Amino acid sequence: MLHNYHTHTVRCNHAVGTDREYVENAIAAGLKTLGFSDHAPQAFPQTDVRYSHCMRDDQLFEYAESVRALAKEYENDIRILCGFELEYFPDSHEEETAFLRQVRPDYLIMGQHYLGNGIGKKHVYYLGREGDDAVLEAYVSQMLAGLATGDFLYVAHPDIAGFAFSEQACEREYRRLCAYAKRKNIPLELNLLGVKDNRLYPDRRFYKIAAEVGNEVVLGVDAHEAKVFSNPEPERKARTMAAELGLSLRETPLL
Ligand SMILES: [Zn+2]
Ligand SMILES: [Zn+2]
Repeated sequence: MLHNYHTHTVRCNHAVGTDREYVENAIAAGLKTLGFSDHAPQAFPQTDVRYSHCMRDDQLFEYAESVRALAKEYENDIRILCGFELEYFPDSHEEETAFLRQVRPDYLIMGQHYLGNGIGKKHVYYLGREGDDAVLEAYVSQMLAGLATGDFLYVAHPDIAGFAFSEQACEREYRRLCAYAKRKNIPLELNLLGVKDNRLYPDRRFYKIAAEVGNEVVLGVDAHEAKVFSNPEPERKARTMAAELGLSLRETPLL
């Protein structure tokens, strides 16, 4: 793979290694684009609550400065971008994006892990195991509303919620998401962390529909440790799956 837009840093409290280690491993693996997209400090309407799996507000500038300094230092070896992964929370999205704009991010990716405005909600990866079809419908509706803002370059792991829902709900809701993304020309990610860790995603049912709809799909490393760039296995497995399903993988830069 040549272009990866999904890379975390130690600031989110569940990734390890220095920023430089990610860069050097990505170069060694032959990447041409390394997009950092650490979990943005996540604002909630009218509260001081922040998620512990995101960087803190006061790390915003230091993160951007670190990434941009590395971009300059390694400009002859690799193109480094400064982005964020964030949730779409309707009541705080404006505040959130205004906050992030202070460092003029190169892009944002949607990583939707919670419903509504987030606080006190269960992670959809676990909600999805409970199999209430209404959850999947609400989840997809929220993603569509987020995508309608035009703020997101792509959707990270669009299929993290869907395991125990009925076949009918998956068919209907996955198709609704894929059709909207297709209409808006927003790529969907096939998440290599899920492949690497044998998680319940990527969900083949989702990418079968994406293949039928004709979505553009990008591979995303979702790196939480630098050494993943030197492990070719997840990418190989993902490419096999894509070929079996007839998915069109985008290989050219997204920006
Ligand atoms: Zn993460
Ligand atoms: Zn991520």
